[in-house]
Amino acid sequence: MQNTYADVIISINVATLDKIFQYKIPTELIQKAQVGKRVSVPFGYGNRYETGYIIGIGQHLSWEEDKVKTIKEVLDEEEAISEELILLARWMKDRYLATLSSCLQTIIPKQLINAERYLDIADYNTIDKVIEEVKKRGYKRQYELLHYLYCHGVTNVKSLKGMIPASVINTLLKKGIIRYSEPGDKEDDDEEFLLEEPLTLGYEQQKVYNKIISSICENKFSQYLLQGVTGSGKTEVYMQLIEEVLHQGKEAIVLVPEIALTPQMVHKFKSRFGSLVGVTHSRLNQTERLTVWKGARDGQIKVVLGPRSAVFAPFSQLGIVIIDEEHELSYKSETHPKYNTIEVAKKRCEMQNGVLLLGSATPSVNTFYEASKGNMSYLAMQKRVAGAMPKVELVDMRIELENGNKNVFSRSLHEAIEDRLEKGQQIILFLNRRGHSTFVSCRSCGFVLKCPNCDLPYTYHRSDHKMQCHHCGLKVGIHEKCPSCQSKYIKYFGVGTQKIEYLIEKTFPTARILRMDLDTTTKKNAHEKYYHDFKAGKADILIGTQMIAKGLDFPNVTLVGVIAADMSLYSSDFRAAERTFQLLTQVAGRAGRNKYPGEVIIQTYSPENYAVQAALYQDYDLFYQQEILFRENMDYPPFTNILTFLIQHHSEKLVVESIQTLYSILQYYGATKGFEIIGPAPANLSKLKNNYRWHIIVKHKDYGRLKNYAEYCMKVFYKYNKSVTLLYDLNPLIIH
Ligand code: ADP
Ligand code: ZN
Ligand code: ZN
Repeated sequence: MQNTYADVIISINVATLDKIFQYKIPTELIQKAQVGKRVSVPFGYGNRYETGYIIGIGQHLSWEEDKVKTIKEVLDEEEAISEELILLARWMKDRYLATLSSCLQTIIPKQLINAERYLDIADYNTIDKVIEEVKKRGYKRQYELLHYLYCHGVTNVKSLKGMIPASVINTLLKKGIIRYSEPGDKEDDDEEFLLEEPLTLGYEQQKVYNKIISSICENKFSQYLLQGVTGSGKTEVYMQLIEEVLHQGKEAIVLVPEIALTPQMVHKFKSRFGSLVGVTHSRLNQTERLTVWKGARDGQIKVVLGPRSAVFAPFSQLGIVIIDEEHELSYKSETHPKYNTIEVAKKRCEMQNGVLLLGSATPSVNTFYEASKGNMSYLAMQKRVAGAMPKVELVDMRIELENGNKNVFSRSLHEAIEDRLEKGQQIILFLNRRGHSTFVSCRSCGFVLKCPNCDLPYTYHRSDHKMQCHHCGLKVGIHEKCPSCQSKYIKYFGVGTQKIEYLIEKTFPTARILRMDLDTTTKKNAHEKYYHDFKAGKADILIGTQMIAKGLDFPNVTLVGVIAADMSLYSSDFRAAERTFQLLTQVAGRAGRNKYPGEVIIQTYSPENYAVQAALYQDYDLFYQQEILFRENMDYPPFTNILTFLIQHHSEKLVVESIQTLYSILQYYGATKGFEIIGPAPANLSKLKNNYRWHIIVKHKDYGRLKNYAEYCMKVFYKYNKSVTLLYDLNPLIIH
């Protein structure tokens, strides 16, 4: 019989060891050794035993037979990770130019990677008796171990070191009194949810539902874009689709941006699907994360709801992956592997014959373009379930000023606020900048106080009377005198959410105010509290950053005021118009979601801009038609692919030298082959945390060629240059 070999990746938390090693599988382990299980293998010159993952099995050996070592032990009874997810990791490695280690680490929970071993009592029903007996026999050590496990539950083997000899553990394992286990076994949920019945779908909802259900029943891969205006009832459609998916014995993943993972969202899903739902979010600890992972792998959990990493839920019968608010930037990872969640979800659906559903009121230009080319099916819901679309008004702040109004609030916004306060209706005021004043400068000489690490203006915070850099977090006391000319005329310019709060307090002293931004929501559950308080009517006005723009459903809100629509319009990113339109539409969507009509007042200095105009008319097509022309003329995505390189170091000279080297390499290998090389130039954040940063942008129509080119040029670059950090990103959503 032929030998069988395993491809093993060792110590996957060490990226430098990103190599696959082959090991012989001894005959007695042939049955047990499977892809996805952990093994103990001899490694290196000293043949130390290391833990690795089997990521492939085959008959072909790519080394010399006499050099190949043999697997010592298979550590898992059942595979820790499925073959499908290992294939996915390999695909990600290739697509995003990442190490296989980093891909596996992204997919597998930490505790499974560390390959730590845990012990538990095998049968809690009989353990009392066993403990009694062991005690009477006088097996002191065995008694100690059992007693310990009895009191502590699942225990890391490491923590028993020095306390209990390994031989005692082995004896009890052999007898089947204790067993290897994993932490985080699903505990009973304390929270009880009253299960709610599905609602009767409206006409538009039903049409969309029917279409997608037919694909789900076909059991083959397909993808949909669902464009539904804010309040059109997308979530209800999602839930009913999932119900059918579960009915067919399949599983579902629902992805939402972290910021939209509100208590109301979780509540909706829990009250529909009870304990079949597992929720993940960034504040979970490792054990909580593992609990959801294992629940999904072992079948107690059938629906995983969470931000982008939930796309890796270890399901094997994926019926549907839903990506809500698909246009959100957070679906692209900013750390390696820099994956795009939509692409990963698509890959998983392809592998498992599932349906991919992208939902948004304002689809990304890329997604809409794909749909317009027929690469995915397009579905729309244009009517709100309850209430009409809000009435939107633009206020030109230049004219306000001409008419002598120097206030932050235009006259119409002022009147509208007054009116709602009188009527006892609620108001949302939106400004995408936290803090009090967004820069501090000297009125005598114009000197702007900046963070020495990042070369960006400080923001003044009134709550602690300090200046803070919003990039690196540095906080300093305020200056009494100008550091440049010593004058006393330090002034605070620009407006942040804190200042809006202060101004509202002054202008409307009786109004009850809540402010929601990064500064007020650092505590765990702060979001929940603010949300419930506002919904319960404990405040009249909610002031906030983009944190309040998404998905929140407050029926009593009839006025939304956008303090400054231009804030995101003039960033140097080619997606600035797209961002602005999306943000304005999302915020506007918070108004009038119930019986009272909603009103939106957008204050702007650029009322003629097409993104602002399209927001005024709530007209996606108007925006898209202009934007797609711009993208095509300027050769931006979706018409091309973008690769960014960024070099950073604390020596500016070194950065400039190395970016030049990189530029020469890129030129040499690519200039005549259709690669457009832009730069080098200082990055958008040209100094960050004491590092100087320069970047180069490369464009090419073919993703695969761009990627290979990047890989090759980086290799050449590292031959010459090892001291600087070279960062890269393929099709980034934010250009740094
Ligand atoms: P979207 O996600 O499209 O912005 P939501 O899913 O938040 O919209 O739905 C808006 C509101 O309409 C919610 O309060 C929801 O419970 C309600 N709703 C949705 N579908 C129906 C329906 N078929 N019948 C009654 N109410 C519905
Ligand atoms: Zn800084
Ligand atoms: Zn000065």
